[in-house]
Amino acid sequence: MLDAIAGIGLDRGTGGYRRYAWTDADMELREWFVAEAGARGMDVVEDGNGNQLAWWGSGGDALLLGSHLDSVPDGGAFDGPLGVTSSFAALDRLRAGGVTRTRPIVVANFADEEGARFGIACAGSQLATGALTPDRALALKDRDGLTMAEALSARGRDPQALGRSDWLDDVGAFVELHVEQGRHLVHTGDAVGVATAIWPHGRWRLDFRGAADHAGATRMEDRHDPMSAYAATVLAARRLATDADARATFGRLEVAPGGTNAIPSRVRAWLDARAETEDELERLVDGIVDAAREAATADATEVEPVAESVSPAVTFDVPLRDRLATLLDAPVLPTGAGHDAGVLSPHLPTAMLFVRNPTGVSHSPAEHADAADCEAGVDALARVVETLAT
Ligand SMILES: [Zn+2]
Repeated sequence: MLDAIAGIGLDRGTGGYRRYAWTDADMELREWFVAEAGARGMDVVEDGNGNQLAWWGSGGDALLLGSHLDSVPDGGAFDGPLGVTSSFAALDRLRAGGVTRTRPIVVANFADEEGARFGIACAGSQLATGALTPDRALALKDRDGLTMAEALSARGRDPQALGRSDWLDDVGAFVELHVEQGRHLVHTGDAVGVATAIWPHGRWRLDFRGAADHAGATRMEDRHDPMSAYAATVLAARRLATDADARATFGRLEVAPGGTNAIPSRVRAWLDARAETEDELERLVDGIVDAAREAATADATEVEPVAESVSPAVTFDVPLRDRLATLLDAPVLPTGAGHDAGVLSPHLPTAMLFVRNPTGVSHSPAEHADAADCEAGVDALARVVETLAT
């Protein structure tokens, strides 16, 4: 199945995937999902938020599986798709063995998990639970200035249909399999692990404002160059996150007016920050903003921080986690990455399985999982489904 979608949204230059919400690549993946479900006799329902759910059986207390098919810019082949394909493969294995299902089983493809286009991660699941309001989502804009409402309309979806999804009431548990984004499993020597928690994390936009001027005619001491404060902030973020054993990343930048021979008038930078606890995260971001303000003041420029999305700490359902760890004889580990499972976990018992990633690299074309480990992931998920739903 991974081979079948390997060409979709692939950038031949970088070798990475660009599968953003509601783009051609996303639409092709959605069609693939419908076809795979159909081939298994599963009924696909797309909720008002674009989440696709393939049902085997109907009714309440369903066991939900799946993950997402979209990607970050130049993402890898496994982050998301491994969970969706493994879910179908696990069901194939159980059905070939002739098991009797005791509750409905659903495979999901959650919409816009990475937030690569509109800036808010897990938009599909957050809309489904009500964590993200339709008004806020519809007004989000992509880099071309297109709103989510316009993007939905362009694909024949009704923007007015966004909002809390009824299927949540029919789901009794969610198990998301995902490639590990880190190297815990390399260190423990296991192919599969069970998640304990997701670190609190968020995205902040920092607008550094100064005065545009000529790169040649303006003396260094006369400049109000916001790039300097930005640069100091990047270094401070690195130092503060290292000291706190947390994470801080500036991975996206817009410079205005954007001329090689012009001092910028504005540098807009996005900070992704994560830490083990919410207090530590708050301290980290406060420290970075303080450093930004201090650097800006020194250059007589300004900086304004805006929190775009902040996700609280998630501790997965402990009885379910322990049950799966015992069943699979698998280690438990935390993660610094956000997932739809984290969004759903306040609403129902939720667990995650991680599949070993030899380099730990993710959100990059270098992301990898060995075929044998992917098979082990399918085995593990099949055993979980067998235990919870047959
Ligand atoms: Zn993912």
